[in-house]
Amino acid sequence: MRLGVITLFPEIFQALHYGITGRAIERQLLQVDCINPRDYATDRHQTVDDRPYGGGPGMVLKAPILQEAVKAAKAKAGPLAKVCYLSPQGQRFNHQHAANMVTTGGLILVCGRYEGVDERFIETQVDEEWSIGDYVLSGGEFAALVMIDAMARLLPGALGDEGSAAGDSFFAGILDYPHYTRPEVYEGQAVPDVLLSGNHEAIRRWRLQQALARTYQRRPDLLEKTVLTPEQEAVLNLVKGRGEEK
Ligand code: SAM
Repeated sequence: MRLGVITLFPEIFQALHYGITGRAIERQLLQVDCINPRDYATDRHQTVDDRPYGGGPGMVLKAPILQEAVKAAKAKAGPLAKVCYLSPQGQRFNHQHAANMVTTGGLILVCGRYEGVDERFIETQVDEEWSIGDYVLSGGEFAALVMIDAMARLLPGALGDEGSAAGDSFFAGILDYPHYTRPEVYEGQAVPDVLLSGNHEAIRRWRLQQALARTYQRRPDLLEKTVLTPEQEAVLNLVKGRGEEK
């Protein structure tokens, strides 16, 4: 996957060279090219922003400079790469969006700063606007990092164990089950017996029941959108305290 990132702070993306994203880059599953709009500023001071028309606080990133940065990003990520502006006003990013994006091959993520970017840049150059949540960050860089990390985990070959993404929360539309490791007793709390039983089928059933119980208790909204297997349906009914398991 080839990503272009338009950012005034390319150093922040050094964080990608750690852990799973670092491995995806090393294995050439993921390539991230940072483009600094400042390189496309035309004046002596390399100005990228200006005061807002109509007055008011803060500064606004200039459209022509961002447009040049997008051109440079497209030269690397390909002319068909979608231009995505990170914005608190965008569509809320989730697992399904990440899964769809990794199949596109190329994307350009535009990180705003200050009050944001000139609206005409969004209207003419941006294909999609994405938000990572209902709060305002100081810049799009951390939002871009969140999106890149979520996508990198889904690239085939990025994880040590391919099964681990499939068991993660949201992958199959439900939350993950709880995990335990040594010691066997911690703060008076023992590991559930079934996990020590060596009975793989009993462990699988217990984990499924735990995952569904958590989803039901914590995120019932997910269950409204997820098509459950007949087994999951039966276990969920047990969790809800009604119906017999088939
Ligand atoms: N004035 C803008 C507003 O209220 O819609 C917020 C500007 S914010 C201080 C600066 C930049 O951070 C934005 O241009 C955007 O790129 C990024 N940003 C802030 N919150 C974000 C969020 N929740 N998701 C994605 N990007 C965000």
